[in-house]
Amino acid sequence: MTHTSRIPSSPPSHGWDIHCHTVFSDGTETPETLVDQARALSLDGVGISDHDTTAGWQHAEQAAHEAGMPLLRGTEITADDEGISVHMLAFQYDPRSRHICELFERTRASRLERTKRMVALLAQDYPISWNSVLEQVREGEQTTIGRPHIADALVAAGVYENRSAAFADAVSATSKYYIPTPSPTTHQVVKAVGEAGGVSIVAHAGDLSRNRSLISDAQLEALIDEGLDGLEVWHRGNPPEQRERLLALARAHGLLVTGGSDWHGKGKPNRLGENLTDDDTVDEIVRRGAIPLWR
Ligand SMILES: [Zn+2]
Ligand SMILES: [Zn+2]
Repeated sequence: MTHTSRIPSSPPSHGWDIHCHTVFSDGTETPETLVDQARALSLDGVGISDHDTTAGWQHAEQAAHEAGMPLLRGTEITADDEGISVHMLAFQYDPRSRHICELFERTRASRLERTKRMVALLAQDYPISWNSVLEQVREGEQTTIGRPHIADALVAAGVYENRSAAFADAVSATSKYYIPTPSPTTHQVVKAVGEAGGVSIVAHAGDLSRNRSLISDAQLEALIDEGLDGLEVWHRGNPPEQRERLLALARAHGLLVTGGSDWHGKGKPNRLGENLTDDDTVDEIVRRGAIPLWR
């Protein structure tokens, strides 16, 4: 594996930020702003990776073309691996692939079902209904209806002052009304992304703030056997000892090593470009992918 020899032991000082969220998931800024800010920072290129959707790709393509900024097209897919929530970055896959469309469709349907069940539970004690939750959805069809909309319906009904207050109480993940978000397994994601001709990378696998226990080496190695392409090492959530662990795995298996800011605009403190992926690795992602690099 020729790529192994190129795995660096420290984060790149220039390159691409390929882990960025926009208003098409839970970011606060548009793809146009993402591209403008990436250009202002003189990044070599930028990647869009909204949660469980390709809805922002067209806007990003338009903006990137106008700004002359190369664009990697991706999605951050929430998956489950034996009870551990795992985020998986998928890049350069064919968005029309039946496999990936079915994966997103199944996830959307089961999440909708889950949100309806939560609303039914809450409606026993609070003045809300499925219709009053639907009234809070402004972003249209492509948005997954979830806890933020339930919270907004409770605010509209006068139960809480604001969304945060609802999240701190009835809508909280520890409340008795909570039902976990259904997700595909990591194995299903690696398979579907592979079938769609894309590149799959486990995001921030060493981030202890997300899970009581992290995805193990053995779990990662099972995914590597199934075709996982890489690991996101350069991410603010991965502490130094986890970066070492992930780098060792990457070296042992010839994986791609990526970095990204996990930018959410004003939604998180993460600064665009604070972590990067080097140009060689981006070239390799493009080489493996099903769609051309967008310029
Ligand atoms: Zn994530
Ligand atoms: Zn993210």
